[in-house]
Amino acid sequence: MDQSKIDALRARPVAAFDHLIDGRHVAASDGGRMEIISPIDGTVLTTVAAGTPADMEAAIASARAAFDDGRWAGQPPAARKKVLLKWADLIEVNALELAVLGVRDNGTEISMALKAEPLSAAATIRYYAEALDKIYGEIAPTPGNILGMIYKEPVGVVGAIIPWNFPLMIGAWKLGPALAVGNSVVLKPAETASLSLMRMADLALEAGLPPGVLNAVTGKGHVVGETLGLSMDVDVLVFTGSGMTGRRLMEYSARSNLKRVYLELGGKSPNIVFADAPDLDEAAKVTAAGIFRNAGQVCVAGSRLLVEDAIHDDFVAAVVKVSEAMRVGDPLRIDTQIGAVNSEAQLQANLAFVDTATREGGRVVMGGSRVLQDTGGYYMAPTIVTGVTRDATLAQKEVFGPVLGVTSFATEEEAISLANSTVFGLAGAAWTSNLSRAHHMVKSVRTGVMHINTYGGADGTVPLGGVGQSGNGSDKSLHAIEKYVNLKTAWIKL
Ligand code: NAD
Repeated sequence: MDQSKIDALRARPVAAFDHLIDGRHVAASDGGRMEIISPIDGTVLTTVAAGTPADMEAAIASARAAFDDGRWAGQPPAARKKVLLKWADLIEVNALELAVLGVRDNGTEISMALKAEPLSAAATIRYYAEALDKIYGEIAPTPGNILGMIYKEPVGVVGAIIPWNFPLMIGAWKLGPALAVGNSVVLKPAETASLSLMRMADLALEAGLPPGVLNAVTGKGHVVGETLGLSMDVDVLVFTGSGMTGRRLMEYSARSNLKRVYLELGGKSPNIVFADAPDLDEAAKVTAAGIFRNAGQVCVAGSRLLVEDAIHDDFVAAVVKVSEAMRVGDPLRIDTQIGAVNSEAQLQANLAFVDTATREGGRVVMGGSRVLQDTGGYYMAPTIVTGVTRDATLAQKEVFGPVLGVTSFATEEEAISLANSTVFGLAGAAWTSNLSRAHHMVKSVRTGVMHINTYGGADGTVPLGGVGQSGNGSDKSLHAIEKYVNLKTAWIKL
């Protein structure tokens, strides 16, 4: 990565963004605009169209028409594949530009954003492009006078609602499989991270995606997101974001056409360190990265550190030491390891969690405060709170910020019981040299992803999805395709 190229891109003014509807950029029907504040310095970066319900209706109508006339679903798989591969190439060619634009909008440190955002999005689109002509239907083992065939058909119109922490990566997790199998999509980016996703949507058209197959509408969740959720013309909703919004989407479905709703929600993931971990220094390093990168705004962040009594003090000291060496600050500097918090509101919410944790008996052994306020941006010191009890707010509620709660345990059974003591089940880890214990932990911790002797970093070949109140359905891997197809049976008497 070249700092001078990043600086040159940062110096560019950012154009105003409009919706993408039916292949054209269009302003909000009432002319409304929303200011986009950069978390780097709190200044206004640009504006986006403040979508109205009518804008969203137009986008859905366009997607419906595009699906119904077969301009995409009706193309031979090889043709769809070609377009999606071209799209992936364009994302890659424009990767640095997309990454810098995204960082100016959402604050993720560029060293992480380049890989995790455009490059991961390109890899995801390519994965599903390559997969789409390898999906076969089935012939059922019926009696001889019957031919039972099972088709996998696209569902129709997919509504995709995306959060602000990794808009391109998470956007691609939905767009890749949804478009690969022939659906049309209406995309709703998050208010505080729309820009790079809107730009990525433009590149899809440049790659040859027919107009109307991908529409994108910016604006408030409770306005355009609600219209999308309540639409009678949307067949599936896919979502990543908070549990509160997830509940609303299920309600919208119930109040409208019973559309399928797939939710990727938050977590309170346990990172469990046993005294027999193979390398405690490595565990400390990965623990710090697993909670503090992207300022903790990672759904799978290892936000609960569970440490065996015997090593508690030494291990916490090691994590503090590693964390103190992490550079917090300007996310567009390549040596920054902890970028900006996404918004002033999120920063205040993070700080309130620290206050509550202390009131509930926790001890702040590192951080706990806002830093670099003179920049005008939203930065928080990596924060570690020890003595967090099983039922404490910090053990139960997702912060979605750079705050690590530490709890000690005496036995493997206690570790498992603590790990499973929240409503969530997204990710987790156990650090141990004992193979049997490792297997036991994988089986016993209720979660979608369980790491052993590492944290994070799983690639696109494996599913990511939560259990419990962390959600349902999976992103990534071939399993994600299941969300975007209907099974249709043909029962033919011979
Ligand atoms: P959010 O729920 O506030 O917003 C997510 C999206 O939903 C945004 O696009 C927003 O505009 C939209 N939205 C908000 N209200 C809506 C409504 N009434 N109807 C329809 N859409 C609406 O969440 P957020 O603050 O953007 O993201 C942070 C949360 O997402 C955290 O809780 C985090 O854990 C979770 N998350 C989960 C994963 C995962 O893979 N499981 C990944 C990233 C983030």
